[in-house]
Amino acid sequence: MAELCLTPEQEAEAQALFQRLKTAFEREALQLARLMASKDDRHLLGGTEFEVRDQVHRLGAQVLETALQERKKGGDQGASTPCPSCSAAARCVAYRGKTLVSLLGPLRLERHYYHCAACGQGFCLGMGCWG
Ligand SMILES: [Zn+2]
Repeated sequence: MAELCLTPEQEAEAQALFQRLKTAFEREALQLARLMASKDDRHLLGGTEFEVRDQVHRLGAQVLETALQERKKGGDQGASTPCPSCSAAARCVAYRGKTLVSLLGPLRLERHYYHCAACGQGFCLGMGCWG
């Protein structure tokens, strides 16, 4: 992969993500190393390739989940936030989970769900692309 040129803000985000993911990467590397050590020469390829791919996909999904959770923090405004429809104070009534399908597998995300008593609308903030 080519060296990425990041803004200072992007580099700060990258360093924060790296700190959060380091432990997961090390744990996965140890599992992969143990998998390799458990296979004799005749079985390093073939079925083992699928096992390695699955583990790497799970790790990639964890990277995406972590990045999405970090970016949606602006969507969690605490106990109350202005309703986007009528501007009345909407109350946080739940912390809802959502599963997104990605190329690397399912991604489980959670966010605050708000309800506006004035107009009856329910909504989540931020990351509208989540649906
Ligand atoms: Zn409203």
